[in-house]
Amino acid sequence: MMLKITRQKVHDVMSAKQEPVAFCESGDTVIFETRDCYNDSIIPGPKQPGEGDPSYGNPATGPLFVRGAKPGDQLKVEILSIDLAKQGVMRTSPTAGAFPHYYKEQTFRIFDIVDGTHVQFDEGLRLKLNPMIGVIGTAPESDEIDTHTPFDHGGNMDCNKIGPGTTLYLPVNVEGGLLSMGDLHALMGDGEVMICGLEIAGEVTVRVTVLRDQLKVPTPFAVRDGRAMTIQSADTLDEAAAKAANAMMDFLTKASGLDPRKSGMLMSLLSDMAVCQIVDPKMTIRVEFPLEIMEHYHIQLP
Ligand code: CA
Ligand code: CA
Repeated sequence: MMLKITRQKVHDVMSAKQEPVAFCESGDTVIFETRDCYNDSIIPGPKQPGEGDPSYGNPATGPLFVRGAKPGDQLKVEILSIDLAKQGVMRTSPTAGAFPHYYKEQTFRIFDIVDGTHVQFDEGLRLKLNPMIGVIGTAPESDEIDTHTPFDHGGNMDCNKIGPGTTLYLPVNVEGGLLSMGDLHALMGDGEVMICGLEIAGEVTVRVTVLRDQLKVPTPFAVRDGRAMTIQSADTLDEAAAKAANAMMDFLTKASGLDPRKSGMLMSLLSDMAVCQIVDPKMTIRVEFPLEIMEHYHIQLP
């Protein structure tokens, strides 16, 4: 039977001190059942104990202890599927995001998901969904990082490329890695400009594998649709941009053995930089580079 971590097993801080709620072996497939970022407080329906308290924000399900994972290893998380709940929710905020001056008060709006693939935005407009995971990470190296904040451990990266079919690489900083996730979005554009995506509960099925003695990627790192991506967060977009570009440049240069003059040119010619989000306590940028060019220079990702 496949291991399933229910949405009762949530926390709001990623930390080495967080007690694991489940254990698995490297290579296992695990289902994470997740609450929405408002702790399921807005969408009506039966509540589990602990659900529905709106003061508890951005709950992450977990953490999962992966047996054999040791500090210095990397965790490969293959996102096999995301099953969304029947309804999602968005909010306006008078205090956060790019448009607070537009709104006098916080308001919420609930959306119905149609056929699991679309949302009816208004009478005339139906939008295709692009399910993604807002919060996914391991325990950080030191300190505790709340689930609102993205950083080197992953966390609230709000990267819309982290969805079904994506392989995500995360650091292992503590025994077992301690993987958690939550804050699913049915749809979200780059930037998450207003303050939220189409926030939704759901179930994520992942395969987790411990990597050791193999080529190390600069975590957090994602692969999807023939693109490799560094995903970096910092206090400002400028810093996050430099961090993400340099993470890719360092990896490309080292793994290919190319002269930095040549790898730098390839970066300028072929890498695409995008804003993941501008609304969290740290800003997140990703830099994408074509996998086929890496393979041309004999870089094989683990
Ligand atoms: Ca988020
Ligand atoms: Ca969210």
